[in-house]
Amino acid sequence: MSETHNPFEAMQARLRVASELYGLDDALFKVFMAPVRSMIVSLPVHMDDGRWEVFTGYRVQHNIARGPAKGGIRYDLHVNLDEIKALAAWMTWKTAVVDVPFGGGKGGIVCDPAHMSQGELERLTRRYTAEIMDILGPDRDVPAPDMGTNSQTMAWVLDTYSMHVRKTENAVVTGKPLGLGGSLGRPEATGRGVLITAREAMQRLGKPLAGATVAIQGFGNVGSQAARLLHEAGARVIAVCDNHGTTKNERGLDVHALLKHNQEARTVGGFKGGEAFDKEEVLTMPVDILVPAALENQITGLNAPRVRAKVVVEGANGPTTAEADPILLENGVLVVPDILANAGGVTVSYFEWVQNRIGFYWREREVNEKLVEYMTHAFHAVFSTTDKYKTNPRIGAYILALERVSQAMQHRGFYA
Ligand code: NAD
Repeated sequence: MSETHNPFEAMQARLRVASELYGLDDALFKVFMAPVRSMIVSLPVHMDDGRWEVFTGYRVQHNIARGPAKGGIRYDLHVNLDEIKALAAWMTWKTAVVDVPFGGGKGGIVCDPAHMSQGELERLTRRYTAEIMDILGPDRDVPAPDMGTNSQTMAWVLDTYSMHVRKTENAVVTGKPLGLGGSLGRPEATGRGVLITAREAMQRLGKPLAGATVAIQGFGNVGSQAARLLHEAGARVIAVCDNHGTTKNERGLDVHALLKHNQEARTVGGFKGGEAFDKEEVLTMPVDILVPAALENQITGLNAPRVRAKVVVEGANGPTTAEADPILLENGVLVVPDILANAGGVTVSYFEWVQNRIGFYWREREVNEKLVEYMTHAFHAVFSTTDKYKTNPRIGAYILALERVSQAMQHRGFYA
């Protein structure tokens, strides 16, 4: 059987395994295998050169039993419905793993944001928001940034939504600018979650984080913040790559200098404090910790046998295929699964939503302390479920999530 790179099928494959092991009710299994709602919209946008372009956008809500849908909006040329469905389902499991009162949602637009002007992006975002207006809202569905979007995108969503409801509603999105009700600590929250779970994973192996070697794939929001925080915690980041370049230094990269270089050059390539290497090698370097923080389907049945890291902390969503899971397990690689490892972002998004709703804002230290509490609690819950069911941490995380979501569904009952 050839390996599937369809992320929704990859999600379903893990769901099937976890459901069988957990003994999930058949009706609930069928419900979880498909999203509750998928919306496809066509978005006419006036381009700067006078042309009209029509973009395709999606918003998917996988499950809303535990609360409003929560999940990012992705702008990328490869966006498709199955990818958004997978990402929405992962959000259902992720919000349940960290036990925040949300369901799972995700959205995206097929576009190339790097080649669009700010004006074009603003018009596209506003039209998208208007089209999905009916299913959005602080109590319905709360987007956040993902690949290709940022706090400015969220500000446009907030404004468009607010204009339609005739009042400023800042809890409609998270990951927005500080001055509009964003939370301190949100920009680095996903990277901080990677740091917290990496530290816990190393502790499980009886090794300190200080001095551990690290390789990171991707140097965007997640990868760069994880690099900085791991570096500041005393780990040695020895290799980093992004879509355009690579850099490595066996003695440890000067991450602060690399961040500065990346800000100017918009790639890690060409950094004076390191040397280039073959991009694919980042996944198979002999390091203590590997952080895939770019995109899906990077560790596959083909390269998994060559992964030499002791711990893989999945900063990205879906970086490991279902076929690679048993190979990594067999080889003794400890995988901190995406729905735990990168849940720091949604956890602080939850804090942001809470702060917006109570109208009272926390200090950064408070946010970071609460994040440590939520993430370590989730880490231990995942690993005790893993031990209880004698499975791998990914399936352990799915089972923990299934337990929580199915309990909510059972309490509510089926409305038929
Ligand atoms: P981003 O757009 O800021 O950064 C993506 C990075 O990956 C860039 O450095 C890009 O150059 C690099 N990249 C792209 N293709 C690559 C390739 N083929 N090889 C190597 N590098 C490549 O995105 P982000 O927000 O950092 O998100 C990265 C991943 O983390 C995604 O899977 C996203 O869904 C997930 N995630 C993000 C957050 C968040 O808070 N931003 C939260 C949870 C999960």
